[in-house]
Amino acid sequence: MSNNSLSAHTIAAQAAGFIDRVSGAVTPAIQPAVTYARDRDNALIHPDNFYGRYGVEVTRVAEDLLAKLENAKAAQLHPSGMAAISAIIRALPHGSTLLMQSQIYWGTTLWTRGYAERHGIKLVEAELSDLGVLAESVANHAPDLVFIETPSNPWLRVTDIGESAKIVHKAGGLLVADCTAATPVLTRALDFGADIVMHSATKAINGHSDVLAGVLATNDSDSKLWHSITEDRAVGGAVIGPFEAWLLIRGMRTLPLRIERMSETAQKLANHLNAHPLVEDVFYPGLKNHAGHASAQKQMSAFGGLLSVVVKGGAERALATCGALNLFHRATSLGGVESLVEHRHTIEPNTGIPEGLLRVSVGIEDANDLIADWDQALAC
Ligand code: PLP
Repeated sequence: MSNNSLSAHTIAAQAAGFIDRVSGAVTPAIQPAVTYARDRDNALIHPDNFYGRYGVEVTRVAEDLLAKLENAKAAQLHPSGMAAISAIIRALPHGSTLLMQSQIYWGTTLWTRGYAERHGIKLVEAELSDLGVLAESVANHAPDLVFIETPSNPWLRVTDIGESAKIVHKAGGLLVADCTAATPVLTRALDFGADIVMHSATKAINGHSDVLAGVLATNDSDSKLWHSITEDRAVGGAVIGPFEAWLLIRGMRTLPLRIERMSETAQKLANHLNAHPLVEDVFYPGLKNHAGHASAQKQMSAFGGLLSVVVKGGAERALATCGALNLFHRATSLGGVESLVEHRHTIEPNTGIPEGLLRVSVGIEDANDLIADWDQALAC
């Protein structure tokens, strides 16, 4: 049976069928060496192992697993999600035009604005989850690269990857999709036509809030852009360490199971809060009244563990509710096994985030416990 016909559960549980051919071990070893010997004829003793920056076995095992989950020809790990995003943008030639979705993860916007200004990249930001705006922006600016984030953080806007790819490709551009909140279990962006898919593997892919990592995957591993990114990683030196790669493999073995549970619980919590008298709005693509629900149904097999809840009464009530939650840790990030909550306006006060918005990352705890915690917190 080919790997592509296997379910993500099977691929992940078996780490894509990994067996250490030297020891027979069913998990890879962590090899800390950064340099690898040659024999007396100057040939590398192991043809794949040369020097740490050019890739080591445990990282290749993690990348192979990610490529299989993503249905991609190639995947590469970076030392954080931002390192993966910046690797793409740094690879754009001077004078390129970059069209980027607005109101996405604030770190992406912030870094890209600064980099584009310093390095002669024309940056255009627009609300690309609206396909009309996407088409108009592409027509007006003929971008070399279009960057979308779906579902977006923290607005949970859904951008139709398939329709976006058609528009961008017709104009000769490339499409990159940050699918961190979906993970490859819920959305395989390359199958819908994205040229590169990106994830912060720090989030649900690792899932245990103890690794910083980023991943890029593509089916066009011969492209100029992919070659530039690969070379920049090896020579520029932004590589992940072997222990982090090993932890990722361990985390990914339960990724589909965790995502299934988180999505189920998030859906229940979103339904419950959407009907709560003290809640103004809930942003979750699994809700029927969500603007992106139809697109989400097309490209997501479930709707993930991330939602935003706008509490009635603005910042004061939102912060009071946040402070009264007992089971949700008040911490940034998302996708871990433990539930988290964050008042996003505190972090990015000038980007239009409603003052009453609490971003919620649902973990794998019991759904009824989490719902009861919200009920008591809202009542405080
Ligand atoms: N993309 C999204 C959607 C994110 O939410 C984040 C972090 O929160 C990143 C990228 C950046 O990832 P990292 O923190 O691993 O650098």
